[in-house]
Amino acid sequence: MIMTEKKELLGLDKKEIEALIAEIGEKPFRAKQLWQWIYYHGETDFDRMTSFSKDLREKLKAGFTITRPKIVAEQVSQDKTRKWLLEFADGQRVEMVYIPEEDRGAVCISTQVGCAVGCRFCHTGSQKLTRNLTAGEIVGQFMTARDAYGEWPSPTDETRLLSNIVVMGMGEPLHNFDNVAKAMNILTDGAGIAISRRRITLSTSGIAPRIVDMVNATGVRLAISLHAPTNEIRSQIMPINNKYPLEEVLEACKTYQQQDGSRYITFEYLMLNGINDSLENAQQLIELMRKYKINAKFNLIGFNPWPGCAFQPSSNNRIHAFAKVLNNAGFAAPIRVPRGQDILAACGQLKSKKEGSKA
Ligand code: SF4
Repeated sequence: MIMTEKKELLGLDKKEIEALIAEIGEKPFRAKQLWQWIYYHGETDFDRMTSFSKDLREKLKAGFTITRPKIVAEQVSQDKTRKWLLEFADGQRVEMVYIPEEDRGAVCISTQVGCAVGCRFCHTGSQKLTRNLTAGEIVGQFMTARDAYGEWPSPTDETRLLSNIVVMGMGEPLHNFDNVAKAMNILTDGAGIAISRRRITLSTSGIAPRIVDMVNATGVRLAISLHAPTNEIRSQIMPINNKYPLEEVLEACKTYQQQDGSRYITFEYLMLNGINDSLENAQQLIELMRKYKINAKFNLIGFNPWPGCAFQPSSNNRIHAFAKVLNNAGFAAPIRVPRGQDILAACGQLKSKKEGSKA
């Protein structure tokens, strides 16, 4: 018997769903209903799509499927940070993290299996790029988190626990531009999952030519992984800087700020002992921002060492002194307390292998 593979619906955008509904000979208004079942109700079972006739349900069941990534493992940190190891149909795995605040929280999702950028401080970066995730796999991560917290149908802004999304897991989002942009537009659609564009932050290592494109294509917020005030230091810890040096990244940021109209651009800055954490480095950062006339906010991030890494975290005193120099020059520079350290869920620690596992 010849088995034809069922078509995956998760990750289809509105136009694709409309085309599919037309293809199976249904009236156009069914497309809107199907969209709502998938993305507003989070439904995966065609039999529970009660606004459809039995005939239509059977037709959908015969040709289509709505799947979530499989949860392979799950850990909860002492600080309630929750980490999932997720597996896709081809066996590839990524990690996803939920970082709760008092009455809301952010889900950190991945865009690639592995990463080609190779930042030297990043655990993920030590795992070679295997493949891009599809739009469905990117959206499916967040939907899995919603399953876990029972947040279907889409709650309102005020009541949702999973209020924010940070695209800061594995991978460089701008290296998987089309799928990421499509996923962002699905996540933010008001008739579905309906996360506000301003509540999504996408972090990039600085793929300068695509920064403004992503803002234009999605309207989500961008954060730049800067981590150094000079090309010399940045190239040492982020080899991508040889391709897109600071000047190009900051020019793109300037255009982004003008176009986006946001009050400031967020720069992530990992504090690495003896590498980028001197008071002189803080001063260099200030001069750089003044030169490019960028309203910047710096997130100073404590480094979480992982087995085999070559860097040490800066001391608390050093981080506070660094922040003070920036603050005195008028820049916000909050110090980020690492979360989920005991389960290796903090920034730069994600890796898709189930370490220590016999599986
Ligand atoms: S920090 Fe981001 S861009 Fe750099 S290697 Fe890690 S995952 Fe890739």
